[in-house]
Amino acid sequence: MSSERVIPLAEPDLRGNEEAYLRECIRTGWVSSAGPFVGRMEARIAGLCGRAHAIATASGTTALQLVLAALGIGAGQRVAVPDWTFAATANAVIHAGAVPVLVDVHRDHWSLDADRLAEAFDDAERCGQPIATVIAVDPLGLPADFDVLVEVCRRRGAVLIEDAAGALGSFYKGRPAGGLADAGILSFNGNKIVTGGGGGAIVTDREVWAHRARHLSMQARADERYAYDAVGFNYRLTNLNAAVVVAQLERLGTMLAARRAIAQAYTAVLSGRDDLAPPPAPPWAEWNGWMYVVRAASVEAAADLVAHLRRQGISARPFWLALSSQAAYAQFPRKIAGASAWLSGRVVSLPCASTLSESEVARVVAGLASWRGPALQR
Ligand SMILES: *Cc1c(COP(=O)(O)O)cnc(C)c1O
Repeated sequence: MSSERVIPLAEPDLRGNEEAYLRECIRTGWVSSAGPFVGRMEARIAGLCGRAHAIATASGTTALQLVLAALGIGAGQRVAVPDWTFAATANAVIHAGAVPVLVDVHRDHWSLDADRLAEAFDDAERCGQPIATVIAVDPLGLPADFDVLVEVCRRRGAVLIEDAAGALGSFYKGRPAGGLADAGILSFNGNKIVTGGGGGAIVTDREVWAHRARHLSMQARADERYAYDAVGFNYRLTNLNAAVVVAQLERLGTMLAARRAIAQAYTAVLSGRDDLAPPPAPPWAEWNGWMYVVRAASVEAAADLVAHLRRQGISARPFWLALSSQAAYAQFPRKIAGASAWLSGRVVSLPCASTLSESEVARVVAGLASWRGPALQR
């Protein structure tokens, strides 16, 4: 036991051409945001998401900020976001000067609840501040119910953005995640399914948005002189980060297969139990297995599971807390029905990196098998 390592929650899998491509960057001097790997990465990402354009960005967060800027979202406008998400989804809206409307998720699939979204549209129209844009998140890498969300947004004349930060390699009714809305964003942070150390991308078919996003990501420089035609950002990805992403993408199939095998092993040991539930498995989704979580009956039970696993050298952590429950977001409008609170603190993330050995997966399985908690209630 003492000779075994603590099994990490997330860990990059850098066993391909990552090192070779980084050396190539250094040897050729292409370390900054111009360079061949950035273009190669963009072409691969656009292809994987089934979209015409991909724009590489410094992170998933800056991809969100940039796509909002490209759409012209700004002061006073309202943007609906799920209440149960990573902070960056809402923060990008706030940093744009717009107002996030926190909308509840659905208990069955943990992504944006289309009925609550429709109610949020009604509320916003009633008070004369309509929702111009919706950001739907693919939680755990699991696609939200986009056919329904697209229809709600179409009826209201709103733009739909997919925060597919961790969803690369997932599919919705056979269509690739990232390409399910008017525009999508991906993250290549260290804990995501594919990493560049850091990085992100915007994907879209809309040429005007793609062009504007790319332009704004490089300070909106109009020509060779220091002349600008807008107030831009420095959000472009470096060739170093893109080199790592390109190497990772070469092994995407292998890494996805490893993630799915781990998810299967965990789900198998949960079968028939009444105290822990596996992630949702909505009928429309083919899941990439990015973030494996279990749901416990209470916040106390979840904390007890985390402590139990940690005693056995297994990292585990409570997952997202509802934004609406946090002081930093207290001032923002919301349409909440209790699902995000029901998930908060009860969902625990487990180690699911593609680097885990078979014996490490077996240790996590044994850790789950040796814990008992109170029965789940709906
Ligand atoms: C990771 C993540 C982001 C942010 O991506 P970064 O690359 O870390 O900036 C945004 N949204 C969701 C849902 C995420 O999981």
